Amino acid sequence: MRKGATPVTTTEPLDVQPTALALLLLGREADPRSERGVECPGDLPAPSDPDLVARARAAKARLGDRVFVLGHHYQRDEVIEFADVTGDSFKLARDAAARPQAEFIVFCGVHFMAESADILTSDDQRVILPDLAAGCSMADMATAEQVAECWDVLAEAGVADVTVPVAYMNSSADIKAFTGRHGGTICTSSNARRALEWAFGQRPAGGGKVLFLPDQHLGRNTAVREMGYSLEDCVVYNPHKPNGGLSAGQLRAAKMILWRGHCSVHGRFSLESVEDVRARIPGVNVLVHPECRNEVVAAADLVGSTEYIIKALDAAPAGSSWAIGTELNLVRRLAKAHPDKQIVFLDKTVCFCSTMNRIDLPHLVWTLESLADGKVVNRITVDPETERFARRALEQMLALP
Ligand code: SF4
Repeated sequence: MRKGATPVTTTEPLDVQPTALALLLLGREADPRSERGVECPGDLPAPSDPDLVARARAAKARLGDRVFVLGHHYQRDEVIEFADVTGDSFKLARDAAARPQAEFIVFCGVHFMAESADILTSDDQRVILPDLAAGCSMADMATAEQVAECWDVLAEAGVADVTVPVAYMNSSADIKAFTGRHGGTICTSSNARRALEWAFGQRPAGGGKVLFLPDQHLGRNTAVREMGYSLEDCVVYNPHKPNGGLSAGQLRAAKMILWRGHCSVHGRFSLESVEDVRARIPGVNVLVHPECRNEVVAAADLVGSTEYIIKALDAAPAGSSWAIGTELNLVRRLAKAHPDKQIVFLDKTVCFCSTMNRIDLPHLVWTLESLADGKVVNRITVDPETERFARRALEQMLALP
């Protein structure tokens, strides 16, 4: 590990990255190979139905302990109201596993989270995603085929043997399984540094590399800001270019091989957003998620995971001012929970996670009523082979020192 390097800003533009996936008509088709299932096999109640809250309560009461509703921090308030527990994706998957009596796990989050819950829960538990269209654009940016091709490129460059894959929790089960197959680990935004330290320690002193998937920003920010690597130690593998757009020499020289993926929510915050809020609110504390771009993270006062952000605001003194760079549903909820503090969204433009927001009260009511009527809808399953290797990578994360 190289100490002493100072974080440097990057001017790399955040251009639009195409996925290899074709567009599907909303509500008409489903693609089982991707995070973009979009079919709703039933009649949704109208969102304007004034009885939706009562219907959700009644269906949940009919199900009793047979159902356990998980609510990700980025979900709408109308959905969070019915969550038995809230948290980030990994906490929620573990909470589900700790509830073996719950026959149905209703995951109000996105597809990769429901997959992780299916991997970590028992075979008797069924994991349900209320709207199959709730995918994650970041997870979609790395497909199994693309990652397998990348590994071939690394092998040709003679670096696969010294490379350890580290996959962010925000990845599909296929990518987690790839990571497990190749001796790597999963990480969250809370333990990314520990995961990287472990990964670099797996290979001969000084010679190891990490392939970080799929969020380039979390990988770069952790290596540069927390571990003292330089931006020059990082290269970006672009799956849409031959050989990832990198020469064998670049791959050999790099320490961090970053997959060219990003979060469409956190990737929107810019240096201008930070400068603008500092000009508008004197003394404001800028607190951002590590999925933000490197120059945003470098300009912020504090950087941390969703759980870190929640705790930092809990501990903040009354009268303090905060600009938060994370998903808007959470920021609004935090502002409501702390009326004694000034809490604003970092960007001027409204920025929800559009796929998270697909889970709404009509979908939740439809899911709960269907389950209460004995009809299992929108079940998410991971095939046993994928599950075996994905679980290996998840268990490696749990065993991190
Ligand atoms: S906030 Fe970003 S990483 Fe999280 S589900 Fe939405 S697109 Fe994916």
